Amino acid sequence: MNFNLSKYVEISESITKNGSCVVFSLITGLIILISEKELSYINQKKFELLNSELFKKLKEFRIIIPEGDDEISQVIFKLNHDCNSNNELHIVIHPTAECQLRCSYCGQSHLKQKLSEQDIYRIVEYIESKLKEKKYTKLYIVWFGGEPILAIEKIKKISIILIELSERYNCKYESKIVSNGFSLTLNKYIRLSSLNVKQIEITLDGDEKNHDSRRKTKKTSGSFQTIIKNLISIRNYSENNENNIKIILRINVDKENFKSVESLIDTVIENKLEQIIESIYLAPIHSWGNNAHLNSLSKEKFAEIEINFLIKQIKNGLKPTFIPKINNIWDCITLKADSLVFDANGDFSYCTEVPYTPVYQNTDWFLKSINNNINIEKRNKSKFISTVLNAESKCRSCKYLPICGGGCPKLFLEGHDTCTINKFNLKEKLLLYAYTSLKNLSFAKD
Ligand code: SF4
Ligand code: SF4
Repeated sequence: MNFNLSKYVEISESITKNGSCVVFSLITGLIILISEKELSYINQKKFELLNSELFKKLKEFRIIIPEGDDEISQVIFKLNHDCNSNNELHIVIHPTAECQLRCSYCGQSHLKQKLSEQDIYRIVEYIESKLKEKKYTKLYIVWFGGEPILAIEKIKKISIILIELSERYNCKYESKIVSNGFSLTLNKYIRLSSLNVKQIEITLDGDEKNHDSRRKTKKTSGSFQTIIKNLISIRNYSENNENNIKIILRINVDKENFKSVESLIDTVIENKLEQIIESIYLAPIHSWGNNAHLNSLSKEKFAEIEINFLIKQIKNGLKPTFIPKINNIWDCITLKADSLVFDANGDFSYCTEVPYTPVYQNTDWFLKSINNNINIEKRNKSKFISTVLNAESKCRSCKYLPICGGGCPKLFLEGHDTCTINKFNLKEKLLLYAYTSLKNLSFAKD
C-alpha cells in the first residue's frame, strides 16, 4: 500500500541539535518528534528508509495516510458526528439582565430584569421534557448574564430544582458561571460551591489601569481591586477547604490593552492566585452586534501576543494548556440539538450573545415559541454548516478545519473573519510544547 503525508499536519521548525521537528496531527491530536532526514524520506515517499517502529506510529497518528484516503470526508464526518452524538444537554440561563459594569465593548443593553416565576417554570418544564427522553446522561447549565451573581437567589432556586430533576432522571448535573467577579465575595463563592457550580470564568482586561478604564462600574470607579480582593479571599478560604470551584481567567484583548496583559501574570503570582486559578487565556475582542471589532488586533498580532503571554506564564511556573483540542469543535449552543439560551426577559434563543443586544431583536436568533412537541428548527445551524462546507468555501480546503470548524457561527454568518488563531501560531505552540513536555531534548536554540 502506498502512503502520503496527511494534509492535516502542522510541522514546527527544527528544534534540536540533531535537527528534529515537532509534528502534530490535526486529526488525532497526537504529537511526534521527527528528524529532518526522516521528514525528507516521508516527503519523497521513501517509507522503506524509515525505521519500522516510526512507520507504524506515523500511520497510527494519521501523520501519513493511505494513498487515495478521502480525508476531507472523514473530517466532515467527525465534525458532524461529535456535534450530533452529544449526550450532554447544554442550557444557558440568564437569571438577570442587569450588570454592575459598563464595559466599553459589551453589546448588551442592561435592564433591571430578573427571571420571573413563570419563566423559571417554563425553563424547568423544558429541561424536564428533554431529560424524560433519556438521551442525555448529563445536564450542563451555564449561568450567564448580565451579571448572574446579582440574582444568586434565582440561581439557588433553579439549581435546587435542576439537581433534583437530574437525580430523578439519572443524569449527572454540573454548572458553570460566567461572571465579572465584582460581586464574587467569599460568601457568594461558598453558596455557588454548595449549588454544584464547578467552574467560574472571570474576565479581567489587563492591568489595573487598563482594566478600570474599560470595565467601569456605573459610578465610574474601577472594578479591578475589588475583583482581586475577592480572589484573595477565595484563595485564603481554599487553602483549608476541599471541593473548590475551578477558576478560569479570561482576558479580552484589543489594540488598547494588549501591552498590559503580561503584567496581569505578575499580579496573579504576587497574590498567589495561581493556587486557585486553573487557567488564564486571552480572547480577542470581537463584534458583539456592535463595532467593538474595529478595535481588534490583527490575527497575526494577536497570535504573537498570545505566544509571549504563554511564555510569560511558563517562565513563572504556570502550566498553561495550548495544544488545540480536536474533539467537539462545534461545541456551540447554536449547533447542538435541544440546547437553548433562556434570558431574563423570558425569551429563548440559541446564541449566548444575542439577548439584550438591540441588533438581534426580532431576528431568527430568537425562537418564537417553545412548544415541547415541536422539534426546534435551528435555521442558523444548517445555514452555517452548509456555508462552511460548501465546495467553494475557503474552510473546506483549509488544513485547520479539523480544529477550527469555521469558528463562531454567528460571526461567520455575519461575514467576520473567524479563522482560528492557531492558523498563525500553532508552529510556535509546538515549539513551546516540546520545551515544556518532551524530556531529554537537546535544544538548538533557547
Ligand atoms: S454562535 Fe458564536 S457567540 Fe453564539 S453561542 Fe455559538 S460560539 Fe458563542
Ligand atoms: S475559519 Fe479560517 S481557519 Fe477556520 S476553517 Fe475556515 S478558513 Fe480555516
